Amino acid sequence: MAGPVFDQVLIGGRWVPAAGGTYPVVNPATEEIAGHAPACSVAQAEAAASAARDAFERGPWRTMSGGERAALLRTAAERFQGEMDGLVELTIAETGAVRAVAEAQQVRAVAGRLLRAAELATAPLEQGVPPRETGRSLAAGVIVREPVGVVACITPFNFPMTNCAGKIGPALACGNTVVVKPSPVDPLGVAELCRIVDAVLPPGVVNFVNGEGAEIGEALVRSPDVDMISFTGSTAVGRRIKEAAAGRMKRTVLELGGKSANIIFADCDVDRAFASAMSVWTFHSGQICIAGTRVLIEEPLYEPFTRRLAASGPTLRIGDPREPGVVVGPLVSAAQRTRVERFITRGREEGATLACGGRRPPHLSRGYYVEPTLFTDARNDMTIAREEIFGPVITAIPFRDEAEAIALANESDYGLYGYVWTGDAARGLRVAHAVRTGTMQINGSPLNPDAPFGGYKLSGVGRVGGQWALGAYSELKYIGWTTP
Ligand code: NAD
Repeated sequence: MAGPVFDQVLIGGRWVPAAGGTYPVVNPATEEIAGHAPACSVAQAEAAASAARDAFERGPWRTMSGGERAALLRTAAERFQGEMDGLVELTIAETGAVRAVAEAQQVRAVAGRLLRAAELATAPLEQGVPPRETGRSLAAGVIVREPVGVVACITPFNFPMTNCAGKIGPALACGNTVVVKPSPVDPLGVAELCRIVDAVLPPGVVNFVNGEGAEIGEALVRSPDVDMISFTGSTAVGRRIKEAAAGRMKRTVLELGGKSANIIFADCDVDRAFASAMSVWTFHSGQICIAGTRVLIEEPLYEPFTRRLAASGPTLRIGDPREPGVVVGPLVSAAQRTRVERFITRGREEGATLACGGRRPPHLSRGYYVEPTLFTDARNDMTIAREEIFGPVITAIPFRDEAEAIALANESDYGLYGYVWTGDAARGLRVAHAVRTGTMQINGSPLNPDAPFGGYKLSGVGRVGGQWALGAYSELKYIGWTTP
């Protein structure tokens, strides 16, 4: 199957042919063509930013009530829900996600994010400030929340539509207009999402551009029509964006890489902790920013736990994500596989023990697969413990006591997420407080969409999630008055 052909980009409410034609999007499970994506020009990216600016200035999106915006976002969510079945197939084909992940986290999650954005849109726009005596007169006023303007939403390859919905949802709820630029690796679902949302909203509120190189994203970051960049991706690109945005003091929300610690004490529910460690392999082949890839294990448990992991890795069914029973799919691209393989080579060179995996599965002649891989006898100063691999690779490190576990967890340039497993509730809370990350989950607490989300250190700047997205995508203005 050749897949869908998208040869147009969305500028100011009109789909126009991409100046550079199309390029093939590759199915990472089969290396066949999953579809064709538009390759627009820098001038078209600039035109999309300008169209978003016009739509912002002209209204009515910016000036309509929160209730009206909410109604339109709900309609967009319902239309998206009506198309979900087809979008699951497209997502599997272009991202390589196994069906369960494609259905729940890659597609259904999008509708959830749009519906939550509709709720956000009705948040109060004004908050009174009580009068304060300032000497001769009273100061009083009101704080109003206003949209930032045009938001460039630049997204990564791992959860293309979900990440996009997590940006455009709250940005639109706050009255901004957006230009979406997905990862060139798997942009087809994002094009579909933009088509569905644009059909419901006023023209120019949602714009979509795409191209193979970095220059399309760079053009948006540079454009004088863009007020804010909401970026999710690697720390290296995030740094470049922050530098480029500094000249005009553009607001940035940066959701970047991670190297999260999964801290496992010997007194925990070992089976549940074990399942969480295994998820580095089974949840989108480790291409997850919040993956607990540094598994820190208390010494008495280290040997049996890693032995069990090493025995389990090879039993996981790896292969084409469309096949029933497959739990480990491919990496998204040949480039991503090469990157992961380089880290595996580095781990061996630096003296860690390859306890399982490390190869391309011999039974699969096509597709970008890497076996579930475990390194033991690793130290926290090794490259495989310091750098984000973004693949099915676990680095297991032993620790003696709570203090050492905390020190190891914090010895990282990253601070996105973390996990702790223990039968001692007080210790769980102490460790959660002590680890410097944006989120800590004790004993497998589920993801909470109402919680703030973001990173410390090189994992990012800013917080989104729940009501915190309002702060990310709004300006606050104070209007004060006094007694004559
Ligand atoms: P990437 O940084 O290579 O690319 C991300 C996006 O930036 C793509 O759309 C890309 O085309 C664009 N881009 C590249 N160079 C640019 C430039 N100079 N200016 C503007 N845009 C540019 O990331 P990726 O490989 O697609 O995704 C993997 C990374 O994303 C990992 O590091 C992962 O941790 C991170 N991620 C973080 C989160 C989070 O919430 N913190 C979530 C998902 C993924």
